[in-house]
Amino acid sequence: MELSGYGVGSRVAIGEAVRMPAPLPEPKDVPFRGDEAAEKARAEASIAAVQEDLAGRAATAEGAIKEVLEAQSLMAADPTIAQLVDQAIEGGKTAERGVFEAFATYAETLRSLGGYMAERVTDLNDISQRIRAHLQGVPVPEVPERDAPFILVAIDLAPADTGKLDLSKVLAFVTRDGSPKAHTGIIAAEKGLPAVVAVAGADDIRDGQELIVDAGRDLVIVEPSEAELGAARAEQQRQAEIEAAPLEPGALADGSAVSLLANVGKPADAHIALEHGAEGVGLFRTEFLFLDRDEAPSKETQIADYTALLEPFAGKKVVARVLDAGADKPLSFLNDAEEANPALGMRGIRILREKETLLRDQLEALRAAQDATGADLWVMAPMVADAADSEYFTNLGRSAGLQTVGSMIEVPSAAVVAEQILETSDFVSIGTNDLTQYALAADRVLGTVANYQDPWHPAVLRLIGMIGEAGAKAGKPVGVCGEAAADPRLAVVLVGLGVTSLSMAPPALAGVRASSAERAPGDRAGVSRHPASNIPCVAARRGRERAAFDVSGRG
Ligand code: PEP
Ligand code: MG
Repeated sequence: MELSGYGVGSRVAIGEAVRMPAPLPEPKDVPFRGDEAAEKARAEASIAAVQEDLAGRAATAEGAIKEVLEAQSLMAADPTIAQLVDQAIEGGKTAERGVFEAFATYAETLRSLGGYMAERVTDLNDISQRIRAHLQGVPVPEVPERDAPFILVAIDLAPADTGKLDLSKVLAFVTRDGSPKAHTGIIAAEKGLPAVVAVAGADDIRDGQELIVDAGRDLVIVEPSEAELGAARAEQQRQAEIEAAPLEPGALADGSAVSLLANVGKPADAHIALEHGAEGVGLFRTEFLFLDRDEAPSKETQIADYTALLEPFAGKKVVARVLDAGADKPLSFLNDAEEANPALGMRGIRILREKETLLRDQLEALRAAQDATGADLWVMAPMVADAADSEYFTNLGRSAGLQTVGSMIEVPSAAVVAEQILETSDFVSIGTNDLTQYALAADRVLGTVANYQDPWHPAVLRLIGMIGEAGAKAGKPVGVCGEAAADPRLAVVLVGLGVTSLSMAPPALAGVRASSAERAPGDRAGVSRHPASNIPCVAARRGRERAAFDVSGRG
């Protein structure tokens, strides 16, 4: 049986399905009229069982995970929790409701203390779920543990859960909800983990069924035939050969250079990027370092983090993006207002303009990291809408002593006025994920409109063409750092439209390096085709000739 969805990356995985239990709903607040002492004993036993389980797992874990498990085991054993649960039961609540309320009260106290204490709130929610699962005798809603590697099947995955997936155990994942350009997909791509999301039939996949997850073809095959398995293995072999090719700098067949850069989110990614032959970093998503913080990081913390990330790139280009908070990755210390349409609200440079001290601190921290490492640091602002945003950011960057200050182009208005933006910006970098979402008015995190999330759409390609032309006219670099750069077929189209560098999750570099090397400027046979409709899109050409649009309608 074939199920279609939207692929993340282009890899193929073969393995057994393991379903992730759904999160537990909030227990109903119905009056409890049973034996109070027995209910208290039931709660006490579940709390003790979870506490022992966490302590046992902490004893065998290592590093950061060990610390988290130890802290969680101590929290579960905290007498305040037991007291709060007892009080709730005395007040006529069930054990489940008592546990839920006790942890909610405790979480509220920690949240109000701020700082490190507030950061523990997620851990508390996790313990609450574990105790309630134990009380109800149902599986804990977490990534299941298995001895052999498996394919995870879930309703959806939060970016934080995706970041924690153990690559030695999880071969790929399939979700019913989600969208390929949401940050869960982006984190999966960074880990080189194939995934197919927004798979309507995912709920019918059962534990233990064999699956092929073919991210490149947007497909999940349930209980494949021998022929399908053979084809999948052959594709895995082909991909392994591409990945084993020498790590040359990016270039078209005639030798014209196209820098191949990496998207990174934390210091540990730097080495992964270099191992995949990245020539530098085209997008350092600084907000990824601070997603679970309730308070702004100090300047010292930022300097330490940025220095650790920049250090391996001494003499190489690193494009750092200042905090892009909002929409599907809010930072609680920046986004405090409820918004009906957060993707259209105080996001990116808009909120930073309002909290300028924070932005100044970040720019100064980046400057200090540059001075400490000798990396060729470029800095850019997210969600620039027009030349006024660009001018504001460039002035601020310059006053912090930064040399190369640019704008991301991810809002259609910015694409239209790219020429004016380039009057102040030293470079632009196209965020195709947001540019596609805003050009087609389709929320990038909504699976229901994922079919509009198509960077091959002629409207998106035309906008990119306009930016490419503006870059050529100004003689300034035009990068792409959205997921479109990671699609080997589309990457060469982007170069044809005037893009001078491509930045992607490191595992995608090999495929794009191989496909660019096959294309020569002016190579008419190199016309790329929309993967779904096979409509010729645009000739992958550079130089004086303008790229020709042959596209008609949506693919
Ligand atoms: C983009 O929008 O394409 C981009 C690179 O930024 P992000 O995905 O982090 O929003
Ligand atoms: Mg973006």
